[in-house]
Amino acid sequence: MTLLADLRAALSPGAVLAGDAVPVAAASDASRSGHALPRLLIRPRDTAEAAVALALCHRHGQTVVPQGGLTGLAGGACPRAGDVAISTARMSAVEAIDPEGLTITLGAGCVLARAQEAAEAQGLMFPVDIGARGSATVGGMIATNAGGIRVIRHGMMRENLLGLEAVLADGTVLSHMNTGPKDNTGYPLAQMLAGSEGTLALMTRAVIRLRPLPAGRYTALCALPDFAAVLALLRRARQELAGLSAFEVMWADYVAACQATEGVRLFAEVAPFTVILETDGPPEAAAALEAHLARALDDGVIADALIARSHADARRFWTVREGHGLDAALPGLMNLDVSLPVARIGAFAEAARAAVLGAEPAAQVMVFGHLGDGNIHIALALPDPDPARDHAAEALIYDTLRGFGGSVSAEHGIGTLKRDWLPYSRRPAELAAMRAIKAALDPLGLMNPGKVL
Ligand SMILES: Cc1cc2nc3c(=O)[nH]c(=O)nc-3n(C[C@H](O)[C@H](O)[C@H](O)COP(=O)(O)OP(=O)(O)OC[C@H]3O[C@@H](n4cnc5c(N)ncnc54)[C@H](O)[C@@H]3O)c2cc1C
Repeated sequence: MTLLADLRAALSPGAVLAGDAVPVAAASDASRSGHALPRLLIRPRDTAEAAVALALCHRHGQTVVPQGGLTGLAGGACPRAGDVAISTARMSAVEAIDPEGLTITLGAGCVLARAQEAAEAQGLMFPVDIGARGSATVGGMIATNAGGIRVIRHGMMRENLLGLEAVLADGTVLSHMNTGPKDNTGYPLAQMLAGSEGTLALMTRAVIRLRPLPAGRYTALCALPDFAAVLALLRRARQELAGLSAFEVMWADYVAACQATEGVRLFAEVAPFTVILETDGPPEAAAALEAHLARALDDGVIADALIARSHADARRFWTVREGHGLDAALPGLMNLDVSLPVARIGAFAEAARAAVLGAEPAAQVMVFGHLGDGNIHIALALPDPDPARDHAAEALIYDTLRGFGGSVSAEHGIGTLKRDWLPYSRRPAELAAMRAIKAALDPLGLMNPGKVL
C-alpha cells in the first residue's frame, strides 16, 4: 500500500489531507522562506494517532516536518518538496489547570493566547509571552524554546517546562507528564527536546508552570540620550523595581519606522533610545515606578517619561515595539536575533550597522529588543532584495557578532536561515555531540531534515 493509503486506513477521518486539500499556508512559516507544499498534511487528534502516523512514515522512509502555528522566523517549519507535514492543530485542548500546583496541562497545538486566557480565568498567568500570541502554539514554542518579553522575570519556555509527551520518528512515545518543579530522575529529556525545532521528536502534550496573576501591571515609556543611559536605567530598574517584568529597548530609526507603519506617535521627538519598562505587583508598585522614574529624571538618566494610565496607553507603546506593520512595509525584511553580554550591545549595534552600511549604503539596519536578556533583534532590509546580497549583508552582521562573542540565535532558533552561522556559536565538538543525539533518536534522519544541523 502507499503511505497515503496506509495513513487513511489507520487514522481518523479528516486526519490526512492530500493534493488540493493541503492549505497553501502549509508551505511556509512567518519567515516566508518556504516555497514547497508538503505532499501530505497529517493532523493527528492525539498522541496515539501521532505515534501511528510517525510509525507509518518511518516504515515508508518518509521525511516529516512538524508544524505548529507557523509563526516561526527561522524557516524551521518549512517543508521541502516531497516532505510530509504533521500539524498539531487538532491537539489543542487545555486539559487541566492545577491552581495549587501552579501548572497547566495542554495539547501541543494549543495557541498561546488561549493558554493565557485559560490561566487568567483561574487567577493565574502563563509565564511566557510573545508578539505572535494569537497563532503560535505551545508545542512550537517548546520546539523553539521561545523567549519573548517576560524572560527577564520568568525565563524562556525550557525553564517553565515541567512535563512533556513526545513521539520519536519511529512512533515511540516518550511520556513524562511531570507536574512538579523537582524531578532529578536522570537525563532531562523534556528540556533537551525544548529547542530541538522538530528535529528529534513531535511534541504532543506538555505541562507548563504557571505564576499567580499579578494584581497589576504598570507600564512606562522612557526617552534616553545614549546607550550608557539605557544601561544605567536597566541597573537601577533591577535594583529598585521588585516586579520588573519587561525592559525593552528601541533605537531611534526603529521607533520612527514603526510609528509611521502603525500610525502612532509616542514622544513629540524621537529620542536616540526609547525603553518600555514594565513592573508587576500590587497597587504600591505603581507608586514605586513613578518614584523610580522621577529619580532617573532628576539624575539625568532619562530625558522624558510617559506612564500608561490605561490598558490602551500601554497597548500604544507596545504597538510600536511589536511593529507588526514593518514586514509589509519592507519586502525582503530579515529578522536577525542575536544575544551577547548586555554591556557590549551598544557598541555591537553600532559596529554591525557600520559594517552593513559600508557595503550597502541604502540598507535599513534597525535595532530593538529584549535588552534585559542581552537579546536584540536587527531588522535588516536592502532596497532591492536579492538572495546573494541579502546573505552577504547578514554575513557582515554575524562576522561582527563573532568578534563580540555573541550567539547567532537568542530565541528564534536555527531552522534553515541561521544554519550556516551555527558554527559561529557552537564548537565542532558540540556540533558532533548534537549529531550523535540526532543519530540516536532519529537514525534514519526523517524528522525535519535539513533543519538546525
Ligand atoms: C510577530 C511575531 C513576533 C514574535 N515574537 C517572538 C518573541 O518575542 N520571542 C520568540 O522567541 N519568538 C518570537 N516569534 C517567533 C515565533 O512566534 C516562535 O518561534 C514560536 O515559538 C513558533 O511557534 P509556532 O507554533 O508558530 O511554531 P512553527 O512556526 O509552526 O514551528 C517552529 C519550529 O518548531 C517546530 N515545531 C512546531 N511544533 C512542534 C511540535 N509540536 N513538536 C516538535 N516540533 C514542533 C517546527 O518544525 C519548527 O522547526 C515571533 C514571531 C512573530 C511572527
